[in-house]
Amino acid sequence: MRVVLRTFPSRPCLFALPVLRAPRFHANAIMPFPHTNVPPHMPVFNARTGAGGDSHPDIERVLFSREALYERVNDMAFKISGDYAALGATEITVIAVANGAMVFAADLLRGISLNTRFDTVRASSYYDGTSPVSVPRIHNAGRLELGGRHVLLVDDILDTGNTLALLRDMLEVHRPATLRTCVLLDKKARRVTPYTAEYVGFDVPDVFVVGYGLDFAERYRNLPFIGTLKPERQDISSWD
Ligand code: 5GP
Ligand code: MG
Repeated sequence: MRVVLRTFPSRPCLFALPVLRAPRFHANAIMPFPHTNVPPHMPVFNARTGAGGDSHPDIERVLFSREALYERVNDMAFKISGDYAALGATEITVIAVANGAMVFAADLLRGISLNTRFDTVRASSYYDGTSPVSVPRIHNAGRLELGGRHVLLVDDILDTGNTLALLRDMLEVHRPATLRTCVLLDKKARRVTPYTAEYVGFDVPDVFVVGYGLDFAERYRNLPFIGTLKPERQDISSWD
């Protein structure tokens, strides 16, 4: 009798296929939201009030749609969660710069998988009359103690860099274990004070943008997208 040895089975051998297992997660694991086009946690469009669509009569051009923001913010939360977990951190202290960063911070927080403490600082910019550069003013420096903590400073937009440079100096006095910055938008062309944020959502050109927390005269923060204002709406005297 002749025995024929085959190197490969002539028929596919099902039990040799790799076993596909569902990934397992534990309490502090990194769990990004599923990447869908519609935010699953809350529909932003409100059919009853008509608010929350991806257009507005005062907006000239939409730069970042609701879906684009949702995707990017959750990517950032995923990256932040992974980076801090790799550092051995079990907790982050997020400090958001009110008012502009509130909408961004609210979405970012819900995508972070580590334990998170949250506080705000209030900052505003004014023109001091002698200089063309805005001078930031800090109105409320927050209450949480920061010594030895992993602190993440969150702002809407990095423009001249003056506000974040001032805040970073203020926070460093408390000797946090680490201090990093996360901004949704970076307008690099406008930088006056050198500043680099570790986490940046999008680079933007030198245009004035509103929406998703960013305002013009305290308006438009509630738009779920980011866009530029029509020129006729940039003159406050034209308003009702
Ligand atoms: P800084 O110039 O100190 O980097 O930024 C100060 C603040 O100016 C930002 O946190 C933001 O609130 C505001 N800002 C800068 N650029 C824009 C913009 O294009 N639109 C709006 N709405 N605010 C901006
Ligand atoms: Mg701001």
